[in-house]
Amino acid sequence: MTHTLPELPYKLDALEPYIDAKTMEIHHGKHHAGYVAKLNAVLEKHSELRNKDVDELLMDIDSIPEDVRNVVINNGGGHSNHSKFWLWLSPKKQSPEGKIKKSIEKNFGSFDKFKEQFSNAAAARFGSGWAWLVLHGGKLEIISTPNQDSPVMDGKIPILGLDVWEHAYYLKYQNKRPEYVEAFFNIINWKKVNEIYEKAEN
Ligand code: MN
Repeated sequence: MTHTLPELPYKLDALEPYIDAKTMEIHHGKHHAGYVAKLNAVLEKHSELRNKDVDELLMDIDSIPEDVRNVVINNGGGHSNHSKFWLWLSPKKQSPEGKIKKSIEKNFGSFDKFKEQFSNAAAARFGSGWAWLVLHGGKLEIISTPNQDSPVMDGKIPILGLDVWEHAYYLKYQNKRPEYVEAFFNIINWKKVNEIYEKAEN
């Protein structure tokens, strides 16, 4: 298959003031588009990989031929991570709801403790990467990954993730990553997060 850049489910300025339109324009239209283009280019050399979707490629990363494995990790990971990321964002403020709300409270003690632990993971990731809430062996965990490494490669299911590459926040927040992380909590699409969690649990 040819991998394609998904359309954003909202306008570029819909996440203002938390994420500015210019950042969204470059992030989606240049960075994400770039991962898709590079992934497609490298798969041209390997027709046997062309019938798999991007998460199928990542789930079985050790089986990807060595000459293209790193390109798939970086650009397939970039495509997968960003495709999920756009759906985790909501122009309207939402509160945690449903099963995920209960499971977060049960696993982390309270929503505030979850938020603190997730924010710390986002802040502590040195350089470029992601902070994640994942489902692993039936349990919720907070982790972070470097670069575009996807939790899917380790058999973990992303439930919520935050891009902490500078390209995700630098125009508006410069070096103040913690302010960007705090802002993120105003635009999480908890309805979608809950949907993903309920599906992953089954
Ligand atoms: Mn990004």
